[in-house]
Amino acid sequence: METLDKQEFVVVAGAGGFIGGHLVQTLLDRGHEHVRAVDQKPIGQWHQRPPHVEYVQADLRHLEACTRVCDGAAYVFNLAADMGGMGFIEYHKADCMLSVLISTHLLVAARDAGVRRFFYSSSACVYNAERQESPEVTPLREEDAYPALPEDGYGWEKLFSERMCRHFSDEFGVATRVARYHNVFGPLGTWDGGREKAPAAICRKVAQAKLSGNLEMEIWGDGEQTRSFMYIDDCVEGTLRLTESECSEPLNLGSSRLVTINQLVEIVEGIAGVKLKRTHNLAAPQGVRGRNSDNTRLRKALGWEPEITLEEGLEKTYRWIYDELVHGRQDPSARHAG
Ligand code: NAD
Repeated sequence: METLDKQEFVVVAGAGGFIGGHLVQTLLDRGHEHVRAVDQKPIGQWHQRPPHVEYVQADLRHLEACTRVCDGAAYVFNLAADMGGMGFIEYHKADCMLSVLISTHLLVAARDAGVRRFFYSSSACVYNAERQESPEVTPLREEDAYPALPEDGYGWEKLFSERMCRHFSDEFGVATRVARYHNVFGPLGTWDGGREKAPAAICRKVAQAKLSGNLEMEIWGDGEQTRSFMYIDDCVEGTLRLTESECSEPLNLGSSRLVTINQLVEIVEGIAGVKLKRTHNLAAPQGVRGRNSDNTRLRKALGWEPEITLEEGLEKTYRWIYDELVHGRQDPSARHAG
């Protein structure tokens, strides 16, 4: 167990994004005094910009940039990736795979800087697609990633980078920690512009319908595809617990409550107090048919698992997106998308 030292330098890569932004804020709340927040986006497009942080705008696909930001760091959290929801990863496989440059160069720089812990944000998209063909899923255990048949593009990059972490750990002694996130959602993330994921897209569509009075919405697929969704506070808590733990194998980090997309829509409709007429776009990208997280190893390794209910998380997310729309604000990251 390595308790993160609050006096040491922490690097958060991808800090202008959704999870990285929340992680930076939580580190500050917990008393960390030296947080270096790095992203390639101009600062005006970051989701969160708390004070008392060293901000660096850098493209981490380049080794020199990684070397610069890792200088003096004790801990590195890699949350930087060119990614989005199904609408993005289906049509940007090469862009997604280019994130391997970030993962690789950050690992090299972290090794050379002698960091004490290196966290990598992997994804449930590493799991073998053949195990995800039915909505009645058997939850995925960590070993189900092999034999490998991950999501094309995005999932292959994640699986490769996981293995880079493993070999950097075995051969170079870098203490790597890898989480496989399962669908993270919450306020202060991408909710418009093409990179948003299902929970944010559904909250936005329901809020727009309520505000416009046009009580219709489009759902991608028949809506019977299943997933689990983890609220952002649980994601950050799990990320920090895993980083401090002795678990060096990739670990699921997600909720184990399975819902269909139609059920997700019903929960958001209930929060908004509306009932919408649904149309189903069967040509839209949908990803795998069903996916859930088996948390057996997570509970054993961390003595903890995500605990915030879907209803509680969606209530906060919906209220935030609704307010953004009411105040005519645009998603800052949407300007960057494309
Ligand atoms: P995000 O898109 O909000 O944040 C990623 C950030 O990385 C963005 O701000 C982007 O500008 C930055 N970035 C991209 N390329 C960069 C580069 N070359 N140099 C520097 N910064 C760069 O995504 P997120 O939801 O916060 O996800 C964070 C991490 O977690 C990613 O690695 C993602 O693949 C992983 N993940 C997320 C989820 C989820 O549901 N959100 C699920 C599984 C895995």
